[in-house]
Amino acid sequence: MQQPSTASLIASIPKVELHLHLEGAVGHDVASKMRRRYEPDAVIEPPSAGFKDLETFLAVYDGICRYMRDAADFRDATWHALSRCAASNVRHVEMFFSPDAHKGVAYSEMLDGILDAFDAAKSEYGMSALLIPAHNRELGPEHGMAFLDKVLSDRRERVVGIGLDYAERPNPAPPFARMYERARAEGLRVTAHAGEDGPAEYVRDTVDLLGCRRIDHGYHIVDDPELVARCRDLDVLFTVCPTTTLSTTIWRDLSARDHAIRRMIDAGLRVSIATDDPGLFMTELNREYTLLAENFGLSEAKLREIALNGATHGWLSEEGKKDLLQRCAA
Ligand SMILES: [Zn+2]
Repeated sequence: MQQPSTASLIASIPKVELHLHLEGAVGHDVASKMRRRYEPDAVIEPPSAGFKDLETFLAVYDGICRYMRDAADFRDATWHALSRCAASNVRHVEMFFSPDAHKGVAYSEMLDGILDAFDAAKSEYGMSALLIPAHNRELGPEHGMAFLDKVLSDRRERVVGIGLDYAERPNPAPPFARMYERARAEGLRVTAHAGEDGPAEYVRDTVDLLGCRRIDHGYHIVDDPELVARCRDLDVLFTVCPTTTLSTTIWRDLSARDHAIRRMIDAGLRVSIATDDPGLFMTELNREYTLLAENFGLSEAKLREIALNGATHGWLSEEGKKDLLQRCAA
């Protein structure tokens, strides 16, 4: 019998998406439609794939956020993002969003729109989803406490934890330690972007000072073998995003033997493959798996193991995990 192609094998594997920003999942078509609701005569530039660096990317990201202004915009954007996940055979999503990037929209209204779309995805695709408000680290730790007040003021069952994102290098982890300590004391799960363009030390501080056992990106950990060993022992989960590394990190060639994600997998770190900002980077989760399978020569067993990491190490309750594993096995 002929071997199935890598693409069809990957399409058949049930997946979990743990690193997806709502606003970065908005594709050019949807972004244009949302903008025209508010500026019917706007001249809209064609999309471009890839970005020079993290800063140029964030400028475009902010542009999208400006036109998400009410619950309906949030519902539409979320539905679009989850539908794209469904097309990659994703059974469970844990989605970031940026509450402070949307001026003039109440936090509760954002939640209403997003969670409405979560309900729709549950009934349409049988897909579960959790939500992670992420603090823009550029706004600093004091604002981080205000962000946390907001999150704690309107707790919903599916809002399970917090994240930390935006420009990493000028905004390292230590000043956010108190905010993270308080979040954990309040029963929130915690993750943070680290080691994307910041050094290994930023990853270490995120583990030690913020108490994270889940790290978004984390690539520069490869520069610190002692930390690699410790994170392996602590069973830290890294959400890695192949396509975005080509724009936002120093590793711009997935076929290179020293690409950080390859070294992380080789070192036995637990990773989950994710898309990060699939709308802006014109990608999808099946494609991210294919890129790693083809460039790193990952076996079917390894691909399935990586896909399961997201189910076993995500933030669903024990009962929710059991249900997810059953849905993945079906
Ligand atoms: Zn991200």
